[in-house]
Formats: sequence, structure tokens, C-alpha cells
Amino acid sequence: MTTASAFEPLISSAWGQPQSWTLEHYRKRGGYESLKKALEMAPAAIIDEVKKSNLRGRGGAGFPTGLKWSFVPKDNPKPKYLTVNADESEPGTFKDRYILSLDPHMMLEGIAIAAYALGVHTCYIYMRGEFKHPAQRTQAAIQEAYAAGIFGKTLLGRDYELNCYLVRGAGAYICGEETALLESLEGKKGWPRLKPPFPAVVGLFGSPTVINNVETLSNVPHIFARGADWYSKLGTDKSGGTRLVCLSGTVNRPGVYEIPLQTTVSELIFGDKYGQGLPAGRSVKAVIPGGSSAPVLSPNELDVALEFEALRLKQTMAGSGGVIVMDDTSCMVRCLWRVARFYAEESCGQCTPCREGTPWQTRLLRKIEEGRGEMADIEMLSHVASSIAPYPPMGLGNTICALGDAAALPTHSFLMRFRAEFEAHIHEKRCPFGDKPWGAFG
Ligand code: NAD
Ligand code: SF4
Repeated sequence: MTTASAFEPLISSAWGQPQSWTLEHYRKRGGYESLKKALEMAPAAIIDEVKKSNLRGRGGAGFPTGLKWSFVPKDNPKPKYLTVNADESEPGTFKDRYILSLDPHMMLEGIAIAAYALGVHTCYIYMRGEFKHPAQRTQAAIQEAYAAGIFGKTLLGRDYELNCYLVRGAGAYICGEETALLESLEGKKGWPRLKPPFPAVVGLFGSPTVINNVETLSNVPHIFARGADWYSKLGTDKSGGTRLVCLSGTVNRPGVYEIPLQTTVSELIFGDKYGQGLPAGRSVKAVIPGGSSAPVLSPNELDVALEFEALRLKQTMAGSGGVIVMDDTSCMVRCLWRVARFYAEESCGQCTPCREGTPWQTRLLRKIEEGRGEMADIEMLSHVASSIAPYPPMGLGNTICALGDAAALPTHSFLMRFRAEFEAHIHEKRCPFGDKPWGAFG
């Protein structure tokens, strides 16, 4: 395991340097040397190396990357695809856009290694429609990679064709769900598919398809630069490498930080290298540790590492790395209402508990926040959330995709930890936070 003092960033090491996004700059830093090493290995050995590294998906679910790659059937005669999920839109999450803007070649090298290992000849990068600047930088990097013989007919001189296409989404959050993304790539409405079958077996155009996040693929060159053993030891027993987290809300230094996986929520918020605490006079009331769908933590629960297993034991999740800090002036009802409105707006409407339940949550929360609530509304809110996904859920939801879980989890956790605040709204028939109810969300 690494210590905080010996920590050396992997993904963000070149951020802030002039021209860090160009091929010339990337090559000066040893860029595409890992691809050369990987091309000397058998595809199965590459997958084994990624398995040994303990790299886990950085999009939110933390699924072991090497294991996902190994699910692609070897005997399927159909073409195989690699798809990069660059549709980052989980509230509180804003890390992938920096990779795409400041170091796109790191991700492209990861793509080339993954494609060769998987026997893929076509890769699609599905990017959030609003990412105009990241898209320009990524497109320019793809063109540089074609001109340098990385993409195209010969992968670094090998008889191996690899094509890479950038596809822009149209701003629908649901298209970040991997099967909705595939539907959208196929030119259809972004409706999630029932799983199984998982995309690794039946994915794009019915073919085996690996879908990896931008940060996940950017980690791959580092595994081959210094070995899986070195990479896995950077992290914890079950999770290798480092990770990017996005710190927002009421902190002195919000931003994207690359951290050792042993870093606790508390260290991130208060550490000198990171958030440097809250503004004078403010204290923490609540923290969402992994994007808005992750169950909220109380101030006495912040001594937990920002790592998949540690947060799972707290019945929350590391998710997509969005750490949102709410201070003592924040109204928990109003914050939850804001989150609930997002999921109600973004529900695709395909399944009943999510389509009907998410607007009901919003209506009940508005009623309570505006001082019109009754005690029965709290029970009703809990009942509606349970109808979408019971607590503790973690994949046990009653809906086709994880958006249903994501909409219900915050409601369960806010009610569990801050019920007194909901009751105060009802007793006082108003928001106790008066005309400044937003706090961190202001
Ligand atoms: P999931 O756990 O269902 O799947 C994770 C990955 O593993 C998927 O690629 C899936 O295909 C694969 N997988 C799982 N079991 C498999 C099996 N048996 N065989 C083959 N492949 C298998 O989670 P999910 O629905 O893909 O993602 C949910 C997460 O997404 C949430 O935790 C949330 O944090 C995150 N999220 C992120 C953003 C963002 O902007 N980054 C947006 C919304 C949600
Ligand atoms: Fe659509 Fe919601 Fe069902 Fe997901 S859970 S498929 S977003 S209706």
C-alpha cells in the first residue's frame, strides 16, 4: 500500500502543463510505450494482467475491469465492440471531462490496449452532448492517433485494424446507463434493456460489447507501464490504483483531486491538499460520498475511506466519485427535493415504479418543504421510495435499470438520518431554514 506522503498521481499528473492534450506531449511522458509492451503479449495475458491489477470500473459500479473483459465469449463469430462511456452526468460528478480535455491520449492508449486484448476492431466513444470542448480535444487526439499509425489499418505497425469513432449524445442522463447508451448508438430511443444478457455477451448490434468508463481506460496504460503488482499495491486489498474524486458543496477548495484509495471522506474535506475545510463558522451536516444517488452520510460517519468496499460496508457507495458537502445551514428536505426533481425529470418512463414514483417523491417533498405537509406524508414518501427500490437495496430494485435505485436511495437515507428535520417542517408548518434553505446547494 502507498502512503499519502509517497503518493504520485497517475491520471492527473500532466494536468496544468501546456499542451498536455497533444500527442507530442504525451509521447514525451512515455505515452504509447505501454501499448508497445502490451502488443508483445498474448491477448489472454493482457486480460490476466488487468485482472491481477485489481482495476475496478470508475463509472460508478466498481465492477472488476479484467473480469468484465474476460466475459467476452471467445467463440462468438460476431464482431466485438468496445464502447467508452463518456456520458458523465451524475450530479456532483465532473472528472471525466478533465481527462477528455487535458489528457485524451491516456484514454486512447487504454482503448488500444483493451481493443487488442479483446479482439475488437471498432471502438465508439459515446460522449455527453454538452461536452463541446472535451469533444474537440478528443476528436483532435483521435486524428493525431490515426496520423501516427495507432488507429487505422495497422496498430503501431501490426497487421491489426482498429478504428475509433467519437459519437455525441444529446444530453439525456439516461443514455449514460450502459444499455440505453447502446440503444442510442444504434440510433434508437435511449431506453435501458433488461439485464441479463449483459452487454459483454449481447451488446451493440447484438454483438459482444465491453463498455468502460473514461477514467477506467485511462488507468490501463499505467498497469502495463509498471506492472499489475505495482498498480494493485497502490490501492487496497480489493481495489488497485488511485482514483479521481470531485469535491463540491460548502468547502473552501472544491475541485477534482486524485487521491490514494485509503483517503477518508474527512481527509478529503478537511485536508490541506484537498478541500481545506468549510468556510469560517460553518460545520458539516451531511455528505453525499459518490454522486447524488449514493446514500448520504452524517458528520459522525466521515472517517471512512473513499473506496468501494469501505463505503459499501456503510451501506452507501463510492459511485462516480462525486463528494457533495452540505453545511449546517442546508435544509435536508430542500436538498432531497432538488435531487428527487432531477431523477423525476430524467426517468425514461419505461417502467411503472420509476415513472410514477419519482414524480410522487417530488410532489411530497415540495409539500413538506412548503409547510403544507402532514406526518402521513413522511410515511407515504418512505412507501413510494420502497416501491421503487427497498432499503437496503444495492441492486434489488424493482425497475429495469439503476436509475430507479438511484432515485430511491437518497430518500431512504435522508429519512433515516434526518427524519427530525422532516418532522420539524410539519410541526412548524414552514421550512425552519427560512429564506436561506439551500446551504451547499445554494
Ligand atoms: P451494474 O453493477 O449493474 O454493472 C456494472 C458493470 O458490470 C456493467 O458494465 C455490467 O454490464 C457489468 N456486469 C455486472 N454483472 C455482470 C455479469 N454477471 N456478467 C457480465 N457483466 C456484468 O451497474 P450499472 O447499472 O452499470 O451502473 C450503476 C452505477 O452507475 C451507479 O452505481 C452509479 O454510481 C453510476 N452512475 C454513474 C454516472 C456517471 O455520470 N458516471 C451516471 C449515472 C450512474
Ligand atoms: Fe427508465 Fe426508470 Fe425504468 Fe430505468 S428505472 S428503465 S430510467 S423508467
